[in-house]
Amino acid sequence: MFCNLFERRFCPSWIILVLLASLVSAAPVLAGDMVDIQAPDAVGTGKAFVVRIGTWYPLEDLEVRWNGRSVRPAVTKTGERSEAVVLLGAGLREEPGVRSVEVVARIWGHERRFSRTVEMVPSAWDSEVLTVAPKMVHPPKSARERIKREHETLKAALAKVSPERYWRAPLFRPVKGRMLSRFGLYRTFNGNVAARHTGLDFRAWLGTPIHAVAAGRVALVRALYYGGNSVLIDHGNGFFTMSCHLSATKVKEGDMVKPGQVIGLSGATGRVTGAHLHLAAFVLGAVVDPEPFFAGTVPGELMKGE
Ligand SMILES: [Zn+2]
Repeated sequence: MFCNLFERRFCPSWIILVLLASLVSAAPVLAGDMVDIQAPDAVGTGKAFVVRIGTWYPLEDLEVRWNGRSVRPAVTKTGERSEAVVLLGAGLREEPGVRSVEVVARIWGHERRFSRTVEMVPSAWDSEVLTVAPKMVHPPKSARERIKREHETLKAALAKVSPERYWRAPLFRPVKGRMLSRFGLYRTFNGNVAARHTGLDFRAWLGTPIHAVAAGRVALVRALYYGGNSVLIDHGNGFFTMSCHLSATKVKEGDMVKPGQVIGLSGATGRVTGAHLHLAAFVLGAVVDPEPFFAGTVPGELMKGE
């Protein structure tokens, strides 16, 4: 040490350290003058949010890093102004705390880094009690391998971050029926097994047409153990939605779909108590609450339209 505790107040090396620390903390403020990063100050776990990036400088090779994942949103140029929009999310099971949205880009041939902090705060979730077939609570040994395989397939599909953004705000409502069961619920199945509800349930009588919430490419069409007949759509830049429990599917893997296009008919396949639509949303692999997309309350003002 350069000085002992009693002399600390007057110690020159300590003053230098303080000066250095203030310079370091001032750096993002200087950077912020070049690139404007709009993001909410706080976001609840299990929620999606929008980040808008704008600059009057020529922006190239834009990359946005968040929570160990990365996305390269397209940059739109209007005159001298460069802008990009990216959807990010706080996972349902994330530890609350402060994270950084990091923006890496080339400006006049030089790599520049900017950042903006977003605090993940705990969300409050309700609970509900359900009764389903016993094999859906305690899957037989023969089904366990299948469930594991399906989980891996879904994880691999969600790991893809398509360079093109197909989704546009606002999203199309997948079915007219009202919301039956919200995202995040702590569920008790048959009185003893708890699970989380990782999607949103909509009322949809058997055979009701189910619509794509946004444009995208059909990533998976599968009959899943829990999800039943399911369609996973890649809306681009790491945003996906999955419609489950369908009685019939109307698209195949690789198809491009338009917002509102019928992708299947509602049903009661998989782990269900009756016919309905289960809609799940994923952002860079994190499962998030789809409800704010339809209620117009996505932090970051996604639903203002584009
Ligand atoms: Zn559901």
